[in-house]
Amino acid sequence: MTFKKYFNRMVIVKKIAVYPGSFDPITNGHIDIITRGLRMFDELIILVAYNPNKSSLFSVEERMDLVRACLAGNNIRVDCSSGLLVDYVRSKGANVILRGLRAVSDFEYEFQMALINRRLNRDIETVFLMTGYQWFYTSSNLIKEAAGLGGSVKGLVPDIVNERLEQMFAKVKE
Ligand code: ADP
Repeated sequence: MTFKKYFNRMVIVKKIAVYPGSFDPITNGHIDIITRGLRMFDELIILVAYNPNKSSLFSVEERMDLVRACLAGNNIRVDCSSGLLVDYVRSKGANVILRGLRAVSDFEYEFQMALINRRLNRDIETVFLMTGYQWFYTSSNLIKEAAGLGGSVKGLVPDIVNERLEQMFAKVKE
C-alpha cells in the first residue's frame, strides 16, 4: 500500500465525536462526560447548540469561553450551531453524537433524539455514557436555580463557573 493510500485510510477511520448541549453553564457532570469521551475518540467537538428564540443565562460566546477555560489543555474543539445537529456532525466529518445519561427522566427525551437523528442520517450513531454517580443530580438548570437563590454550587461546577455565577447573581441583586 502506498503511503498516500495508507494515510487516507487513517483519516477515514479517525473517530470524531460531537458532544452537543446548551452548556448554560458547563457543569462537572458535563466535564465528566467530556473527559471520558476524550479517552474514546480521536477528536471531540463540544458543540454549544442554541436556539435564538430561547432565553439563556449566558450568551453563546460566554458559554463557549467557559467551556474553553474549564478544559484548557485538553484536546477538544469548541463550536456553536443553531442548525440541524446531524448536518453539523456530517460537515465536520464526524460520525458519533456523544450524550450523557442521568436519571431515567433523561432517557425518554434522549431516546427520541437518538431515533430522530438516526432517521435523519443512518451513518451517525449516538453514544451514551452513564453519568458519574456524583453528578447524578447535577443539571445546568438546577445549578442556575440554586445559585440564583443564593445557594452554594461549589463542587458541582468548575471553580471558574462558580465565580462567574456568583458575579452574575450578585449583579442581579444590586
Ligand atoms: P442540562 O441537561 O444540564 O441542561 P445540556 O443540555 O447542556 O445540559 O446537556 C448536554 C448533554 O449532557 C445531555 O446529553 C445531558 O444529558 C448531558 N448531561 C448534562 N448534565 C449531566 C450530568 N450531570 N451527568 C451526565 N450527563 C449530563
